[in-house]
Amino acid sequence: MMRTPVLETQRRATLAKALNLALDKRRQSVAEFANWEAMRQRAHDIRAGVLERLDEYLNQFERAATANGIRVVRVATAEEACRYVAAVAKRLGVTKAVKAKSMVTEEIHLNRALEAEGIRAMETDLGEYIAQLCGQPPFHLTAPIVHLSRDEVGRILADKLGVPFTNDPTQLTLIARDVMRREFLTARLGISGANFCIAESGSLVLCTNEGNGRMCTTLPAKEGPRVHIAITGIEKVVPTLKDVAHLLRLLARSGSGMRLTAYTTLINGPRKRADGEESTGPDEVHVLLLDNGRREMLRDPHLREALCCIRCGACSNQCPVYHRIGGHAYKSVYNGPIGSVWSPALWESEQTASLPFDCSLCGACADICPVKIDIHHALLWQRKLAADRGRVPRWQRLAWLAWRVAMSCPTLYNFGSAVARLLLGPAMLNRLGKPWTETRDLPPLAKKTFHELWKEQTPE
Ligand code: SF4
Repeated sequence: MMRTPVLETQRRATLAKALNLALDKRRQSVAEFANWEAMRQRAHDIRAGVLERLDEYLNQFERAATANGIRVVRVATAEEACRYVAAVAKRLGVTKAVKAKSMVTEEIHLNRALEAEGIRAMETDLGEYIAQLCGQPPFHLTAPIVHLSRDEVGRILADKLGVPFTNDPTQLTLIARDVMRREFLTARLGISGANFCIAESGSLVLCTNEGNGRMCTTLPAKEGPRVHIAITGIEKVVPTLKDVAHLLRLLARSGSGMRLTAYTTLINGPRKRADGEESTGPDEVHVLLLDNGRREMLRDPHLREALCCIRCGACSNQCPVYHRIGGHAYKSVYNGPIGSVWSPALWESEQTASLPFDCSLCGACADICPVKIDIHHALLWQRKLAADRGRVPRWQRLAWLAWRVAMSCPTLYNFGSAVARLLLGPAMLNRLGKPWTETRDLPPLAKKTFHELWKEQTPE
């Protein structure tokens, strides 16, 4: 089982400030609704209902989208998805593409695959762009550089782009905007994810805060991308526009406290020829519906609920472990509590098998989740799967076995705790408690056990 390093103090402080601000804003935003709990339940029912009849909704979406002129392609694996995008790029004869923020494209490592084919995919979400400049994966589902201070961002832009250093957020944004605008206008291929796919109308829904999603997908004819490829998971289908409207009310509020993301774009298909020269949009829209392990998750009754996730990032904001170790420690595209459920399901390995154990099972993630996913129970289930697959070290299994035996025999338990209190002085406790005790001392064991106190304080 791998050991997860903690963040250094300054980085933790930067992260805590940003996450706590998001949580405060969420609290204020959610307080606008007296029926927030009922809204969460309805969101859960919408998403769980989709999973019950997934194929039906996928087929409905495919029919409606195809009628709108969208090419819908089902892809089973990451490699298949990457090959498809590279083939389109080659057909267009392009060596670059502009990309809106998309966790699914991170999941399939699209940028790396395109680079191997001589195609440069440029991130255009500001946070993703800066993460790409310094060669880092996103730190958080919705806030890729939440761990960086503005001084650090200023230094990265100065180093990588050769511009004068500034830490003024407006100036930093203008610098990035200047670079990106040139790329938007000259790129012929735009790539995005999709927050939702609407089955009844065959539309894609894209939520962004910077407008870059629209620049990648719907610039005027003769400018910008002529082909748009959206890559999304099969679980992102939603029956109706009304359902999407409900989910949108919870999505941004839960993640950042905003009532809505600044841009909510509905894409219904390519530019219609009859629209004329002034109309906007690409000539072709392709939608790749990706499986990549999702059907396996769907088959497992303990994991299928995790597919309800709408990627708001609130569970990471709330998670005490995420606050302490940060997103990169998970070594997985999907980090935070829900990432610890998804990652072992998509990529089973020694490293991902250890993720569900980086959790105190406090349940704060499930309490905040806008679609009411029972995240900590899914994490417990992942722990069981890891043990079944032999991913838990022998000494740990023996320790839990001893614990189980002791807990089911009061005499043995009382004897064991008396011996432990005799042997475990503060020095021994701190040695056993490493690495947690490297920066703090564990409190000494109580002089009396709970049982002794209970006996003393309970009248006969
Ligand atoms: S599991 Fe819930 S809280 Fe976490 S990202 Fe998904 S929807 Fe948001």
